Amino acid sequence: MMGTMMEMPLLISSLIEFAARHHHDGEIVSRRVVEGDLHRYTYREAAARSRKVAGALDRMKLGFSDRVATLAWNGYRHFELYFGVSGSGRVVHTINPRLAPDQVAWIANHAEDQVLCFDMSFLPIVKAIWSKCETVKHWIALCEHGQLPADTGIPGLRSYEEWIAGESDAYAWPEFDEKSAAALCYTSGTTGNPKGALYSHRSTVLHAYGAALPDAMSLSARDCVLPVVPMFHVNAWGIPYAAAMTGCKLVFPGAALDGKSVYELMEGERVTMSAGVPTVWLGLLNHMKQHGLKLTTMRRTIIGGSACPPAMIRAFKQDFGVTVLHAWGMTEMSPLGTVCNLKLPQLELDEEAQFAIMTRQGRAIFGVEMKIVDPDGKELPWDGISSGDLLVKGPWIVSGYFKGEGGNPLIDGWFPTGDVAAIDPDGFLLITDRSKDVIKSGGEWISSIEVENIAMAHPAVAMAACIAAVHPKWDERPLLVVVKKPGAEVSREELLAFYEGKTAKWQVPDDVVFVDAIPLGATGKMQKIKLREQFRDYRLP
Ligand code: ADP
Repeated sequence: MMGTMMEMPLLISSLIEFAARHHHDGEIVSRRVVEGDLHRYTYREAAARSRKVAGALDRMKLGFSDRVATLAWNGYRHFELYFGVSGSGRVVHTINPRLAPDQVAWIANHAEDQVLCFDMSFLPIVKAIWSKCETVKHWIALCEHGQLPADTGIPGLRSYEEWIAGESDAYAWPEFDEKSAAALCYTSGTTGNPKGALYSHRSTVLHAYGAALPDAMSLSARDCVLPVVPMFHVNAWGIPYAAAMTGCKLVFPGAALDGKSVYELMEGERVTMSAGVPTVWLGLLNHMKQHGLKLTTMRRTIIGGSACPPAMIRAFKQDFGVTVLHAWGMTEMSPLGTVCNLKLPQLELDEEAQFAIMTRQGRAIFGVEMKIVDPDGKELPWDGISSGDLLVKGPWIVSGYFKGEGGNPLIDGWFPTGDVAAIDPDGFLLITDRSKDVIKSGGEWISSIEVENIAMAHPAVAMAACIAAVHPKWDERPLLVVVKKPGAEVSREELLAFYEGKTAKWQVPDDVVFVDAIPLGATGKMQKIKLREQFRDYRLP
């Protein structure tokens, strides 16, 4: 016997229409790229302009599932494209503008993008690549008509405002299969060419439900959310969709991601919640410490994308009263997998015991199943000690890549994350490493994250990366690469001594090298591949 409930497809257009009806006065504030000012409007206006985008795409005769690319910061026009493009049945393809221009062109060609919408700060990239993008027929600059430079050389370049001006805001969203493609994000390609994760309407709406849950991001109409994580990094971790679903106030920082600008926006707009990768917070923390500033409305921030050093979690809590919710996920998972929130019995624990739990990557959200396995694929217990390859499955996890690239990635229906992890009996995940970053010393594995976390707790260390260096006896031994804080001093010996009593002797790095900067990838993560190349011929003492 079947249930007797209505069958209604889960479509992205329904999110923005819900926001327009139930949170019509809900505010969306954006730092504009060209003007530098703060633009303000409401969900009602965002919905109306998203409908105009949909109309403009119809007028261009774009087909169902055709790709519309963006090279854009977090801002209101990008937000409108999220809904106008997907809602009208096309696929919004967010390209990371921090990639090299040739990589941007490669991705646009691979995706067969028909339209490319870009912020004016990325005009130089577009000038460099337009002639190489074989499928792009329309170039749209996210600005007013009057802000278009006269002689760009880009054929048929139009401003976004002129493009949508003549369209009606009474567009009726089409209804179609919820499994239709909605959004496309490429992985950063650390292992070969980037591969596309192609999200569906269904996966995106379910992910938004999951993200908004109290033990995930806990978003509500009482929140004011500032996504520092870019809308080109796995759709700002799904925040734009979850925001429309919950009606929270949204604050988009545009291109100004330095500590001072983010701080001013947080205080000025009374932000309660934020999200970003660990490296972006260094600027904010430094700025606040240097100027003796406090955060008055911020309550929590989601940090993920790479391991958040415990020292950062402590600094946010002790110095600024902000709870860090450590989260883990990946492009292939839309991206949320786990978020770290305590359970009721853990509230009885003392502060240090609670802190120890909060440094882990957290518990799975409903919708994400996970397991850890040994090299033979045998499932390992959730005892907090056994560590193995982490596999996941769920309705917002890829079953394959765009255009079937890379073949079938699944193992018996599970997606192998490439991460090595332990899970404790309460279901808290601890990522010990990416399998390719683990240091294999003799028969033992050393977690590069653990080595880095200890270094990051030293007051003179701004950034630390631990990589494997070749060793004649042990195959690999940990080498610590360190960037010192401005004006701070620490020697190799002092840093190595700092490890005493904090970890097993054989896990202490063999050497420390000081560098001016650690290479960061397009999403702000440390690029250990580059570091490994840089230190390939390094001989340990
Ligand atoms: P890419 O794999 O293309 O660099 P993703 O953003 O998809 O980009 O990265 C996902 C990977 O980032 C995960 O598989 C994991 O290795 C790492 N990661 C994400 N969040 C965390 C975290 N909280 N702690 C440790 N590693 C993390």
